[in-house]
Amino acid sequence: MARYKDTKSVKNSTHAKFDQLLKPGKKPNFPGIYKCQQCGLEDVINKECESLPPCAKCQKKPHEWKLLVVPEEPPKQQTGFKNFIANLFPK
Ligand SMILES: [Zn+2]
Repeated sequence: MARYKDTKSVKNSTHAKFDQLLKPGKKPNFPGIYKCQQCGLEDVINKECESLPPCAKCQKKPHEWKLLVVPEEPPKQQTGFKNFIANLFPK
């Protein structure tokens, strides 16, 4: 089971992307930690990954991956007049 310490940096989500089952060889839709639904092994998949690897424990047994934890991009800089003014006169 994935663990974390900083509860302020991880939040719960009910998004459908966490429900999708993907077979090894399929392109992952998101980088993150994936969990093998056969044995429970968790593996990190980075954003350059083009196809999910087979689970190191299950190898040739039929198995699927499910997204467990996904990283979040920092919020984008706001643009517009309000932000322009805010940058001119920082607090
Ligand atoms: Zn497995």
